[in-house]
Amino acid sequence: MVTVRTRYAGSPTGYLHIGGAWNTFFVWLFARHNRGTMILRMEDTDRTRSTQEFEQAILEDIRWLGLDWDEGPDVGGSSGPYRQTERFDLYTKFARELLQRGAAYECFCTPEELEAERRRARERRAPYRYSGRCRNLSAGERERFLAEGRKPAIRVHIKDFGHSIVVDDLVRGRVEFSPEHLDDYIIVRSDGSPLYNFANIVDDHLMTITHVIRGAEHLSNTPKQLVMYEALGWPPPQFAHLPVILGTDRKKLSKRSGDTAVRDYRRQGYLPEALLNFFALMGWYPEEDREIYTVQELVEKFRVADLGKASPVFDPAKLNWLNGVYMRQALGTAPGRVVEVCLVVLAAHGVISEPASTEQRAYVEQVVRVLGDRLKVGGDILTYGDFFFTDVTYDPAAEQKYLRQPQVSGLLRTLADRLEGDGAWGRETAETVVRGLAEEQGIHSREIIHPVRVALTGKTAGPGLFELMELLGRQRVVARLRAAAARAA
Ligand code: GLU
Repeated sequence: MVTVRTRYAGSPTGYLHIGGAWNTFFVWLFARHNRGTMILRMEDTDRTRSTQEFEQAILEDIRWLGLDWDEGPDVGGSSGPYRQTERFDLYTKFARELLQRGAAYECFCTPEELEAERRRARERRAPYRYSGRCRNLSAGERERFLAEGRKPAIRVHIKDFGHSIVVDDLVRGRVEFSPEHLDDYIIVRSDGSPLYNFANIVDDHLMTITHVIRGAEHLSNTPKQLVMYEALGWPPPQFAHLPVILGTDRKKLSKRSGDTAVRDYRRQGYLPEALLNFFALMGWYPEEDREIYTVQELVEKFRVADLGKASPVFDPAKLNWLNGVYMRQALGTAPGRVVEVCLVVLAAHGVISEPASTEQRAYVEQVVRVLGDRLKVGGDILTYGDFFFTDVTYDPAAEQKYLRQPQVSGLLRTLADRLEGDGAWGRETAETVVRGLAEEQGIHSREIIHPVRVALTGKTAGPGLFELMELLGRQRVVARLRAAAARAA
């Protein structure tokens, strides 16, 4: 049995997005299910766009999701280095080997000459393919170009195979490519830097990768890569190309339909275990009639063969529902988890410091207790409980309906007077005073409870009024009642 070695080869040119995270998760599941090795590689050859910060951020976000790796740029490993920019000597070595084997050749064409070829193709309305004019340069021509100061790029020589190139994909089955569509593509630029298709196969081979699990957008690269595996006499890994994720609008997932950075989901207060469960349901139904799985169960059940060819839909409503399930579960068994995600949201909104002080944390713990399972995502702490952290923002409809009424101003002011002072403070006191005032005025208690709620929270609905009064504290309650009384007058 082969020992599985698989990898996620991200490019540190931006943050880890949903598609990349989804891909990483399947790579990880596959490695862990097969007790194999999970490798992270940084494909950072695009020097203008790759940064150390993005690399750090990608590792951090994968770690936050709860996924680990055995070899990578930070932990090292037996087949490192794991950054392509640190592997240039290897690419040079194998580019030379391809040249020696006659599977590649030097191309001295200048950008202007290539542009002229492209223009001619456009004029003929033919698809552009490199003419191959440098394929058979004589030693003299080569010398002349070098003497002119031209620096060669290296191109693969696509020979006439006489047969199609077959990708035996673990997800899509047999996919055939006709070699006519391949032209002699560049593998090393004239400045010596390698291109994706080349660096990628050198690394996959040297890192003894057995399975490549990657996005469908790379399927068309695979035949180009197979040509090089063959030329170098290397057995190719097995490939699994994941389908393209769609938004609920059935178009390719975009920023608007949810393809934002994983760290944005973190800042909005999603639980990583909910995201992973959600990822699993995109493109793979472990069992027909079940939707909630622990990560351990997913590891046990995962089989590449069960991945669907059809494009999964990224449905934010489903993610929210799942997150709510995990939040409710955490509130019962590990409320600290909910507090953690809420702290991240509050810090991201600048409402508390990062890290939170002991007092802030204790306060957030209480807010979480009071809001309970209203919290479907951490962000709900501000949706339903912003007034615990900031001044009241009145919902205009609520203000109109409950504050702008005769007598309300007076009632709120009287209540403020009665709550002021230094007697005991707590939900019982609050309740006794509020209900007592209603009775005394001969009105139903809800005629006072509704305006008080709007005065203290700005909203018509929310957690238990007396509980939230206790938590807000006497000072804030009295001040808000007076402020609302002044607006209502
Ligand atoms: N660097 C490529 C990407 O981010 C990796 C493709 C692959 O996995 O081979 O899309």
